[in-house]
Amino acid sequence: MSRQRLSPLDRLLCAVPACTAFMALAGCSPKEDAAAPEAATPAAAASPAPVREITQISGELYRVRNNAHYTVFLVTPEGIILGDPINADAATWLKGELAQRFNVPVRYVVYSHHHWDHAAGAAVFNDTAELIGHENMPGAIQAYSAGLSGDLVAQDKNGNNQLERDEAQGGMAAQFDFFDRNGDGGITAAEIIAEVVPPESTYSGSRTLTLGGKTVQLIHPGNNHSTDSTIMFFPAERAAFGVDFIGVKRLPGGLLGGGTYEEWISSLKAVEALDFDSFLPGHGPWGSKADVAGFRQYGEDLRTAVLEGIKAGKTVDELKASILMEPYREFENYGIWREQTIEQAYQLLKEGA
Ligand SMILES: [Zn+2]
Repeated sequence: MSRQRLSPLDRLLCAVPACTAFMALAGCSPKEDAAAPEAATPAAAASPAPVREITQISGELYRVRNNAHYTVFLVTPEGIILGDPINADAATWLKGELAQRFNVPVRYVVYSHHHWDHAAGAAVFNDTAELIGHENMPGAIQAYSAGLSGDLVAQDKNGNNQLERDEAQGGMAAQFDFFDRNGDGGITAAEIIAEVVPPESTYSGSRTLTLGGKTVQLIHPGNNHSTDSTIMFFPAERAAFGVDFIGVKRLPGGLLGGGTYEEWISSLKAVEALDFDSFLPGHGPWGSKADVAGFRQYGEDLRTAVLEGIKAGKTVDELKASILMEPYREFENYGIWREQTIEQAYQLLKEGA
């Protein structure tokens, strides 16, 4: 039964509001998911299998894909340090792959942030792993659970703080039975985030994990897409992993979720200050340190353009029509997210954030 309830999650996760509304700088989009290879064939379109792959990045550091979501893991002789679990279905698959390939247990799961489309499913590893998150993560989970947020509020036509079947739209409609975990005919925020297990240990600022002679630094870059963001920095592998507040040649799905515009930019600079060659985001292609600089430049150029418009007394619609962000036309999601990022930047910067 649980397999039937879980299977739609992988293929539809990116259509759900968690990715499109409160998840500022969110990575996924319905368009991206629709473009996934499994949807390209008629047979797969009827019941698409999740697209999953494991790619070796450097040394014993690997990147894992589950449709539009990505995580990382580092293998050591004493066990594995894993990033986001993504979701229960993906985690179950990954656990099997890790056992088969490496025959060592997952000793740590490091949450990039609390958003359920990245953080769900850690229970799968909890028999052997310690779950680690930033100190703000437990509070962020609680805050999310308290009530519908983002565009889920707009779907809640009768305002009763849950989505009934005739209200749910998009991914929430498609996955209604999955999220209505108690089967009472309504989806609450607590049900949506129910599979996110709170961290068992938290840190403030930074923390170093050592296992089997290898090291991973956990770094909180400040508030950005959320208030509980963690970067995983792999010094020996010369790589860094960060999720949703940062991307590679890719427009963000939204702006901010717990910080100011300036804090977002300073978070990106905190990543740039690390010594690495490979940057591994939670969505989209991976790239180089120059790509991180390019993404930060996008954020700064957007801020400059929007602030000029505000100063000139332009409306947000005028800005959406005039700010074309031409140098970033080749970024992923330029066509679908350019206007919304301008709108969100306008709202933030007009408020002085
Ligand atoms: Zn997120």
